[in-house]
Amino acid sequence: MTTRHPPTTRRRARRLLHVWTLAISALVLVSCGDDSGPVEIVAPDRSEVGLRVRVHLLSSEFAPLSTELTEDEVATVFSRVNAIWQQALIRWEIESILREDALNSDAFAAILRGDRPVSDDVIASVLPRENLLTGDWDVFLILSLGGIAGGIYFPGIPAALSAELDPEGRRELTRATARILAHELGHSLSLPHVPCTAAGNLMSPGCPAADRTRLTDSQVEAARQQALTGHPYSGGGALE
Ligand SMILES: [Zn+2]
Repeated sequence: MTTRHPPTTRRRARRLLHVWTLAISALVLVSCGDDSGPVEIVAPDRSEVGLRVRVHLLSSEFAPLSTELTEDEVATVFSRVNAIWQQALIRWEIESILREDALNSDAFAAILRGDRPVSDDVIASVLPRENLLTGDWDVFLILSLGGIAGGIYFPGIPAALSAELDPEGRRELTRATARILAHELGHSLSLPHVPCTAAGNLMSPGCPAADRTRLTDSQVEAARQQALTGHPYSGGGALE
């Protein structure tokens, strides 16, 4: 015995088949394309993100607070920073370079001499705030943070402070100087520290690998999400 569908059900089935045939034909037309141009493919946004940054070159009678970088050298450092951040398709565009006097240099000097404990608040107090590029990125450059760190990101301002000398006192603009600044800018894109890896991650501090410039896929995603807001990360406390 065979099951026979009543006529109305068969008609409905034929109509459905007809609709599906039309839909599939339309899909084939779209996906094969014709003379109307390339097929639009919806993919995740992978365009380059440009971020404006104002560079503040600090001067002081206390030599470690006085950067010796010229404007050309700043461009050289940022060129290397951009090469590192190319893996995330993020590019820093220098809006302007200002020369400003550091504040509260006596307290900063006392910290570097070891006469008072290291304090993020005191270190932040050396940064003049009158000319911040509020809403975009601000980077302050000094000569040295002594052995404390290569740089510090202050989400509360928000601004990055970076030294041209690394904590060992070396001046290698396209290596340590650029890597430290690229690291601080990683904090400005919401990235926290990660443990040392053999490949050398940009956000791993104090690891033996010399070439610590890599980012994982999830770091790239997180950094791009922050970059696409158009503003630096402003949550939490200071990060070295
Ligand atoms: Zn850090």
